[in-house]
Amino acid sequence: MSEKTPITVAYGDGIGPEIMEATLKILEAANANLQYDVIEIGEKVYTRGISSGIEESSWANLRANKVFLKAPITTPQGGGYKSLNVTTRKTLSLYANVRPCRALAPFVQTSFPKMNLVIVRENEEDLYAGIEHRQTQDVYQCLKLITRQGCERIIRYAFEYAVANNRKKVTAFSKDNIMKLTDGLFHKVYNEIALEYPQIQADHYIIDIGSAFLADDPERFDVIVTLNLYGDIVSDIAAQVAGSVGMGGSSNVGLSCAMFEAIHGSAPDIAGKGIANPSGLLNGAIMMLVHLNKAEIANKIENAWLKTLEDGIHTGDVYKEGRSTKKVGTQEFADAVITRLGQMPNHFTPANYANTIGEVKTVPTSATKVVKKELVGVDVFIDWATTNAEEVGKIVETLETSKLAFASLTNRGLKVYPQYLPEAQNSDQWRCQYYTKNEQAISHSDVLELLGKFQSAGLDFIKTEHLYTFNGKPGFSLAQGE
Ligand code: NAD
Repeated sequence: MSEKTPITVAYGDGIGPEIMEATLKILEAANANLQYDVIEIGEKVYTRGISSGIEESSWANLRANKVFLKAPITTPQGGGYKSLNVTTRKTLSLYANVRPCRALAPFVQTSFPKMNLVIVRENEEDLYAGIEHRQTQDVYQCLKLITRQGCERIIRYAFEYAVANNRKKVTAFSKDNIMKLTDGLFHKVYNEIALEYPQIQADHYIIDIGSAFLADDPERFDVIVTLNLYGDIVSDIAAQVAGSVGMGGSSNVGLSCAMFEAIHGSAPDIAGKGIANPSGLLNGAIMMLVHLNKAEIANKIENAWLKTLEDGIHTGDVYKEGRSTKKVGTQEFADAVITRLGQMPNHFTPANYANTIGEVKTVPTSATKVVKKELVGVDVFIDWATTNAEEVGKIVETLETSKLAFASLTNRGLKVYPQYLPEAQNSDQWRCQYYTKNEQAISHSDVLELLGKFQSAGLDFIKTEHLYTFNGKPGFSLAQGE
């Protein structure tokens, strides 16, 4: 037999050790030919005072093996503990979260028996950059960061995934009718990349109506690609609608490393009872085998698992009188899968990963096209504890320099001065917008001169945002009402 493939394994917390034991038992019985390097993560590591939940020394093993099979962990509440999932994704740059959501009717209850879709979620950017500030007594902000490279990577991954897995359609979800620059970029890049895959159907939904269809008519979707926060939400909707929250696996894939897991958590309420369903982690392990180009083994395990479900051998979470024949515990379920290795399902379509490509490769993103960037103005945000726009406007409109002129005052994105909006509910954060006069070229020193005037006027400026054009096109949004 060929040399074993080394992978990193973590048993996690709660039901983690039980479902990992069951999963590895099945992998062994199917001759997956893997070598397991076990690392410790989660509660025990957190309580040793390591706020990331993972020892520094574990990264070397993860980087060497490049493949991580991870059981769920318990994140202690409060106390400044960081999410291990977020840390792992960011540290190893696991930019794509892939979550297949498939109905297993009639054995698992769902209203949509033909549902079989995959969510591809961007994993590193968006509001998850974690850049948040409290700026005034009343106003808090979270920065949404979207890059062209990030969009290209995830969208190309979704199309490559569709090609590799014989899928027919890639649908994008975004909110570019409102966020024209950030979500607009995602939609634009999606349109560009879709042209490179004429064999794959491409369509786009605004995230709100897309989510509504996902909840009400999920059978219309095949692969869905979306930004981080939307992906987080819609992947839970999809798993719930498929009826398979306890059964789904997921992968987090980067350019060099990948992590595979169940979508559910550590279920502390049933930990140690031997009743947890190991299917979620097993499905994560099947995705791992496909990634490792072990399609035959993946087929063998998935078909045996489907046959076990068909035979009515179910753990308590799935068990239902009339539909099930035997209620089993975690290890007994694993044994039932092992007994069926080599058998095919009758009701479900058998797994056939032989025609899939395995590890989905993405090409490096295209180089940034250099365009002409010109400074044309500045937004100066100030903290002023008043709700009276006129009071603020009358002062800030006088703060001009030889090159910068006052343009508008906005509050929470709404233009409130020079025109008067009696209904506006103003906060204590004000955006004062200044543009270059007569299209004169301006520089940082003009901005500093303006800020000097704010200082002299005793105004508490809390942030500035430069206004640039790129090849003459504004790189900033207009205020509502402008
Ligand atoms: P959970 O998914 O652990 O449990 C939700 C419910 O589903 C519980 O009633 C549980 O008993 C049941 N359940 C979950 N998995 C099951 C299985 N395999 N078999 C049978 N029943 C199952 O969600 P939670 O209770 O919100 O979170 C518990 C802990 O897990 C928290 O500390 C949370 O932070 C953590 N968590 C970890 C991950 C991860 O490591 N990837 C993901 C989500 C939650």
